[in-house]
Amino acid sequence: MSSDEPDVVHFVCYGNSAGYRPDLPGDREQETEWLEDFLTVAPGLRGRVLGTHVQTWEHCFALLSPERAAAVEDLRRPVGGVHFAGDWTSPTAGTHGALDEAKRVADAVLTGAGIPPRARETC
Ligand SMILES: Cc1cc2nc3c(=O)[nH]c(=O)nc-3n(C[C@H](O)[C@H](O)[C@H](O)COP(=O)(O)OP(=O)(O)OC[C@H]3O[C@@H](n4cnc5c(N)ncnc54)[C@H](O)[C@@H]3O)c2cc1C
Repeated sequence: MSSDEPDVVHFVCYGNSAGYRPDLPGDREQETEWLEDFLTVAPGLRGRVLGTHVQTWEHCFALLSPERAAAVEDLRRPVGGVHFAGDWTSPTAGTHGALDEAKRVADAVLTGAGIPPRARETC
């Protein structure tokens, strides 16, 4: 909750269990329904909401599953001089996973680790 405008509070509400809903953005009826849900928990804000925006994401976190955990080493394997880093190559996913992966790959590039000798010559 924040805003650059003085006296205006910006609330961000996540509906994680809703899943990917491409039908939602632009649907005023459903947006009003979500707003009513929000006003149920914050009734004092009725009549004071300046605007709403609904967004949905098809991909959010890399899914945490035993199958992905087993594939992480394969996902991380460089192809020639090309390295892969993202939440999907991390065991944890999320922003922290993506940042850890960025560090891992930056270290590998700086030290030349994991780069086949022929690819190293052309870097
Ligand atoms: C609504 C929402 C809330 C979230 N909340 C949290 C949270 O509270 N905590 C948390 O840890 N994580 C959260 N996440 C997850 C977090 O945002 C991701 O785990 C993280 O951003 C993944 O980082 P990444 O670098 O792997 O991928 P991304 O951040 O998705 O970066 C990939 C980049 O590649 C670009 N790209 C894609 N295809 C191409 C192409 N062909 N050519 C060039 N560029 C391309 C994309 O535009 C993007 O900029 C949230 C995600 C969403 C959607």
